Amino acid sequence: TESGSSLYNVVLIGGNGVGKSALASIFAGAEDSMDSDCELYGGQICEQTIVVDGEIATITLLDTWDCQEQGSWSQEQCMQAGDAYLIVYSITDRDSFEKASELRIQLRRARQSEDIPIILVGNKCDLVRCREVSVSEGRACAVVFDCKFIETSAVMQHNVQEMFEGIVRQLRLRRDSK
Ligand code: GDP
Ligand code: MG
Repeated sequence: TESGSSLYNVVLIGGNGVGKSALASIFAGAEDSMDSDCELYGGQICEQTIVVDGEIATITLLDTWDCQEQGSWSQEQCMQAGDAYLIVYSITDRDSFEKASELRIQLRRARQSEDIPIILVGNKCDLVRCREVSVSEGRACAVVFDCKFIETSAVMQHNVQEMFEGIVRQLRLRRDSK
């Protein structure tokens, strides 16, 4: 096992309005952070050092998926930039769930030979009365796509830390199996 810190790029992708930026701002303000001097370039990129299972990991979180208008990040660049991906949909928006499936396929195509850690994230789980995608549908989709699954609420800060810890654990599993 290594004692130094590990650096990982984690990219948020998903439809408009599903809560990617809300999740990114929680990450930016993470209480567990050892690095209080978080840089948020227009709310797009943030680096944080977090401790997971007693081991340090430095995560650069990219919330750049919806930024193509400014010409700064193309979706193709986002598809190449990540060591891991959080594919986010809203449990209140079935279209965003279908979009998540498309993105999984797109990602697989873009990074064919690589075994990239992915978590399918069903956000807005606080909006129980507006739910359009059930937990079991989300879970089943993740099984099909061979990735992890979690439901989060950025507003309630529910499972958000668990999501970031989960992606770090996935990255370490890949690292340790090499
Ligand atoms: P993005 O387009 O994916 O970056 O989505 P945003 O982070 O901008 O969020 C879109 C809207 O959904 C905003 O009004 C957020 O306040 C709201 N939102 C984001 N996450 C949640 C959540 O977990 N629960 C609820 N109720 N609203 C959320
Ligand atoms: Mg956004």
